[in-house]
Amino acid sequence: MSRQDVARVLGGLISEETLRADLALYHKLALDWGASAAAIIPASDVTIDERVRLKCIVPRCLRAGESPNCPPYAPELDLVRRALERFSWAILFKCDVEPLEMYAPGRGTTQAEKRRTLAFHEKSGEIVYKLERHAYKDGYYLAMGFGGGSCKDYLCQGLICQYLDSGRCRFPHRARPAMEAVGIDVIALLNKVEWNAYALLDDLSTIPCAVTVGIVFIS
Ligand code: SF4
Repeated sequence: MSRQDVARVLGGLISEETLRADLALYHKLALDWGASAAAIIPASDVTIDERVRLKCIVPRCLRAGESPNCPPYAPELDLVRRALERFSWAILFKCDVEPLEMYAPGRGTTQAEKRRTLAFHEKSGEIVYKLERHAYKDGYYLAMGFGGGSCKDYLCQGLICQYLDSGRCRFPHRARPAMEAVGIDVIALLNKVEWNAYALLDDLSTIPCAVTVGIVFIS
């Protein structure tokens, strides 16, 4: 077995050169797996804002309190702030939501159609899971990803949360709090990398695009 074939040690020393190459690989993988854009960003670009968290309950999101990953159960912001400050680099990515009309709030008459409108974070959630897993395998044992929306929608299709019901999550490795649930100001981050987001309200024909966003903190 050549040295390159040997699995990396978890938490082993990683040179600047290897880190740079890994970040470039994760950036490429995000695009290969379906992101419409990705960026390698300093983790310090991320801001945690109490107002973002409060927006989950004022006005109340229909998922607040419905899974352990949504407020009021999602991790406390002080813990999140202190933990994320210890990362240096992250991969930020976005996926386009298409066709936009299928996912607009309030859309759909049948249960299946209504569920679909809530599942638009599915693709970004899958990329978050795969990137975090890849980075972990590469030795970044503290790599941590956050997507968007509630796992009750994009994983459990609106079924009652099995974790809150019986203590056993149906998707223990995939379910995680959304960026917004842990207070990350996603819109500020998008503006920093010059990606646009719009309010999906009223006349959809005026809206150029809709996106779902994920982030994986690497090291
Ligand atoms: S059971 Fe479903 S809704 Fe509950 S935490 Fe797991 S993925 Fe989320």
